Amino acid sequence: MFGAIVGDIIGSVHEWSGTKTKDFPLFVEHSTFTDDSVLTVAITDWILTGGNLVDFLHTYTESFPHRGYGGFYYRWATARSREPYNSFGNGAAMRVSAVGFAFETMDEVLTWSKRSAEVTHNHPQGIRGAQATAAAIYLAREGGIRDRMKHALEAQFGYDLGARLDDIRPAYAFNETCQGTVPQGLIAFFESTSYEDAIRNAISLGGDADTLACITGGIAEAYYGGVPRELEAAAMPRLDSRLAAVVSRFRERFGPSTRAGSESVRDQDSGSRVRGGVGCRGSGVSD
Ligand SMILES: [Mg+2]
Repeated sequence: MFGAIVGDIIGSVHEWSGTKTKDFPLFVEHSTFTDDSVLTVAITDWILTGGNLVDFLHTYTESFPHRGYGGFYYRWATARSREPYNSFGNGAAMRVSAVGFAFETMDEVLTWSKRSAEVTHNHPQGIRGAQATAAAIYLAREGGIRDRMKHALEAQFGYDLGARLDDIRPAYAFNETCQGTVPQGLIAFFESTSYEDAIRNAISLGGDADTLACITGGIAEAYYGGVPRELEAAAMPRLDSRLAAVVSRFRERFGPSTRAGSESVRDQDSGSRVRGGVGCRGSGVSD
């Protein structure tokens, strides 16, 4: 999930700029974390701690106001509403990455990504966006072959992942829906050669850049086995220390690419196993 946060920070200055090139400095003076990072950490904390996700979303949003939240979401959070509002916004996908890293089976990843979305984004496209993003991370983590990952995600979620970035880019514009962001974020990963290249791909589409880079970044982190050290060194000082502390807890427990461990931890709420040990993770499409 740290890869999602680094993507958000790099993308933060491109959100409204319509950047259509891969040639830009990764970090500039104003690069900072946005709502995508805050809510990614809220979900991460929920997974680590247990409890009611709505409370985590309310508390984190209140603690980190004015970070570029979507209008409907911000009204929902600041009113302390507890009812979902049928959103299919890309917020469901940008906050979900920890789920893809934390669970042992695809069934659990799909179940928990749905839970992470439906407290606000209970529209089928909102749930689908979260599940597809988390499933991609899970498959990437498992060492999935990209072509097979692509076909599995197309079959399961109905997205068309056949387009190339060069075909998408000219007409693509800011889009804050799941169905207008997640397929493009996946394609940005599928065309990448490294974590950094994946982030550059996502931002080069000229859309909701921080969210695209956040979605792509989580998948690329899983696939390439972590975030390059120099990017981590530049991103960490730009992250609030309270958020960084949760990131550290998560990475200590799950690691960006850790495969080994000794204990299996049972989540108090559900009995679902979260990853913490060498377990059997069922995946149809990994080698
Ligand atoms: Mg944002």
